[in-house]
Amino acid sequence: QDEYRTEGSLKLEDIFIAVKTTKRFHQNRMELLLDTWISRASEQVTSSFLAGDHVVFTNCSAEHSHLALSCKMAAEFDAFLASSQSWFCHLDDDNYLNPQALLQLLSTYSAAWDVYLGKPSLNRPIRASETLPNNKTKSVHFWFATGGAGFCISRKLASKMVPWASGRNFLSTSELIRLPDDCTMGYIIECKVGGQLLSNSLFHSHLENLQLIPSTQLTQQVTLSYGVFENKLNVIELSGPFSPQEDPSSRFRSLHCHLYPDTSWCLQPLRW
Ligand code: UDP
Ligand code: MN
Repeated sequence: QDEYRTEGSLKLEDIFIAVKTTKRFHQNRMELLLDTWISRASEQVTSSFLAGDHVVFTNCSAEHSHLALSCKMAAEFDAFLASSQSWFCHLDDDNYLNPQALLQLLSTYSAAWDVYLGKPSLNRPIRASETLPNNKTKSVHFWFATGGAGFCISRKLASKMVPWASGRNFLSTSELIRLPDDCTMGYIIECKVGGQLLSNSLFHSHLENLQLIPSTQLTQQVTLSYGVFENKLNVIELSGPFSPQEDPSSRFRSLHCHLYPDTSWCLQPLRW
C-alpha cells in the first residue's frame, strides 16, 4: 500500500463530502450532525438536507431498496464529478466524521493515483453473479468498503469509473449485480477499472462492536457511527462530558466536546 503514499499540502476544501440522508432522518440524525462535526466542515458538505449549492435533491424514491439507494449514490458521485475537488468521500447520516483526521489520512495519498479507501464490510471478497448481455451470468468477486463506515475515492480513480458510475450508468451497473450501492462501487472499482480497496481501520460503521475502540483513541478515528445491533445499542464508550441520559444514542455530543472543547455548549454541559 505504501507506494501510493505521498507528502502533500491537501486542504479540507479539496475534499467533497457527501452525506446521504432521507426526509425522516432530517430532524434527529441531521440536526445532531449539524450541531457537531458538520459545524467544523460545513463548506465541504453536500447533502439533501443542506441549502444553496450544498444541496442535492434527488428524485430517488424514499425507500430503503437497492435501487433507491443506488440512485442516491449516483447523485452524490455526479455532484462530485461536477465539482473541481480532488477527493470524493461518502458518509451516511449516522456517521461522525473527524475532518482533521480525514485530511491527515488523505494527505498521505495522492488524488492523482487510483485510491479507494475505507473499511471492508467482510473479511473476504464478496462473490456476486454478473448478468452478461446474452443473459448468461459470470461469477465475480471483489472487495468493497461499507458505505456505513464512510469511504473515499480519488479524483483519478473517479474519472476512470465514469462509464459505469455516472448518470444512469450507476443504476444499470447496480442492476447487473443486484447488490447495494456500496457493493456496486467496489464492483466498478475492482472488476471494471482494475483498482483495489485499501483497507483502513480508522473508518467505523455500526456493523462492528464500537465499544471495542479504546476511549483514548476515539479522537483519532476518521469516522464513527452508532446503531442497534441484536436489539442492543451499539455505541462508542465515552464517559463524558455529557451523561448517557443527555447524549444517549450516539455519544456524538460528548465526542465533539473532546475534539473541540471550546464549543459553547461544551463548556457547561449540564445546562445543555
Ligand atoms: N437512507 C435513505 N433512504 C432510506 C433509508 C435510509 O437514504 O429510505 C439512508 C440513511 O439516511 C443513511 C443510510 O441510508 O444515510 C443508511 O440507513 P440506516 O442507517 O437507517 O440503515 P443501515 O443500512 O445502516 O442499517
Ligand atoms: Mn446506519
